[in-house]
Amino acid sequence: MDKILVTRSSMPDFEEYINEIKEVWDSRWLTNNGVKNRQLKEELTKYLDVDNLETIVNGHMALEIAVQVLDLPKGGEVITTPFTFVSTTHSIVRSGLIPVFCDINPDDYTIDVDKIEALITDKTCAILPVHVYGNICNIEAIDEIAKKHNLKVIYDAAHTFGEKYNGRGIGSYGDISIFSFHATKVYHTIEGGAICFKDSALQNKIEEVRDFGIHDEESIPFVGPNGKMNEFCAAMGICNLRHIDGEIEKRKAIVECYIEELQGIEGIKICKPRENVDPNYAYFPVVFTDKYKKNRDQIFDELAAENIGARKYFYPITNAIEAYSDKYDAKDTPVALDISKRVLTLPLFADLSLENVKKICSIIKR
Ligand SMILES: *Cc1c(COP(=O)(O)O)cnc(C)c1O
Repeated sequence: MDKILVTRSSMPDFEEYINEIKEVWDSRWLTNNGVKNRQLKEELTKYLDVDNLETIVNGHMALEIAVQVLDLPKGGEVITTPFTFVSTTHSIVRSGLIPVFCDINPDDYTIDVDKIEALITDKTCAILPVHVYGNICNIEAIDEIAKKHNLKVIYDAAHTFGEKYNGRGIGSYGDISIFSFHATKVYHTIEGGAICFKDSALQNKIEEVRDFGIHDEESIPFVGPNGKMNEFCAAMGICNLRHIDGEIEKRKAIVECYIEELQGIEGIKICKPRENVDPNYAYFPVVFTDKYKKNRDQIFDELAAENIGARKYFYPITNAIEAYSDKYDAKDTPVALDISKRVLTLPLFADLSLENVKKICSIIKR
């Protein structure tokens, strides 16, 4: 059997993409806020139901730019989760700030809001939670803590493309939310991302920081990276946006099939969808407790032996990776550490057949 990878990028028809880039080709305007970027920005603002949005070269750079434009003080502490992709933690450290790791709750793996306040010091300047696997954080509680202590909130919404919470686009929560449009995500622009922000006064600064901090040829007020999305990526995004609803529908059927196969089995924990959320079925994480007859690594190996690529996502957690392990102890976030040793995300992409879903489940159950 062909290898089943954990994810597989959705693609438009070749013709559709070629057609989309024809104009770019002829105009030779390849990047720097061209016509495709402007169109994509407009379409995404509408689709994601957010106040303001700018396209960014990738999700990581969107995080770094978010941190920069909120003017967080150098050396400030940012309360965040270790149960995430390294990008979240790196964006804090690379911006000269200090991550302070808060544990997660064991049901949906988002930041445990009951443990945030104990971590706040006079250096705390922001909270950077992650809507991990597309599970929405406790936004109300985070909002309340942020208001009480005068903290900024940046959501890493990389997993939540297209999700709604209480009928509003998920990117409209917090001071800033960022998305990743990496090829492995539910929606992609090959590489890409977006920054969504409430305060339209940030508009000019975000545009300038994204472009080396350049205001105009002779005025460069900020130290900025090159965060611009190119026109070929934007064109891919325009094509993929035409098909995204169908892609999410297909994912839904796959997730429902996984749930049917795996729910109720002793020792297997799957996430329950939260109320008031329109989910995007981005990931299917499964946690194996001590009651299961095999452990996570055994199941990972057995799937691999059958040419099935599950992923230990997220393992190791970011306070346990070499880059940070001398400064942090992953035992300080025991729930995150425990889940990281038990979790597997199973293959999930729009074109995964239900037959293969059942096969994957039968290997897990056998
Ligand atoms: C993918 C991802 C990022 C980084 O996005 P890129 O587009 O790959 O730079 C950041 N945070 C999380 C949680 C992600 O999954």
